[in-house]
Amino acid sequence: MHRVVCPGSFDPVTNGHLDIISRAAAMYDEVVVAVLINVTKQGLFTVDERVELLREVTSQYGNVKIDRFHGLLVDFCATNGITAVIKGLRAVSDFEYEMQMAQMNYRMAKVETLFMTTNPLYSFLRSSLVKEIARYGGDVSGLVPETVLSRLRQRLAEE
Ligand code: ADP
Repeated sequence: MHRVVCPGSFDPVTNGHLDIISRAAAMYDEVVVAVLINVTKQGLFTVDERVELLREVTSQYGNVKIDRFHGLLVDFCATNGITAVIKGLRAVSDFEYEMQMAQMNYRMAKVETLFMTTNPLYSFLRSSLVKEIARYGGDVSGLVPETVLSRLRQRLAEE
């Protein structure tokens, strides 16, 4: 049984995240998408809302589970029987930081990290950019799932 984790903030989930999650789901027995609980950084969506959106948009994948974690990712892996972390690489700029994290996680707990290159359609895509564009009235349809798009519009209208 190969259980892997896709960790991140997912504030909110984008089509870039979904691309990596769905490809991982096709390769491994179980994929746990783990939302990082960061007490020092308030997101646009609460952790509960991010989890709920992730559940909605991954409901067609029977082997994808949504969870949350705080503290060290390697501890979350140990508690949940996870042997590898899956990360999407958008550009070379992602690589240096990701390599440090991967090497540290391996050193601490022998947790492996596997990198998937992003679908070129989404190589420029990150949640913070989506939020910024949407905040100023830009069109982000096609970059996030429909349900995220409507929640995003609703949330920004409340601000
Ligand atoms: P961001 O806020 O930059 O979108 P997250 O922390 O939510 O990032 O992302 C979690 C992980 O999802 C990242 O470490 C990366 O592996 C992957 N990821 C994010 N965006 C993309 C994308 N456009 N294409 C491929 N992988 C992505």
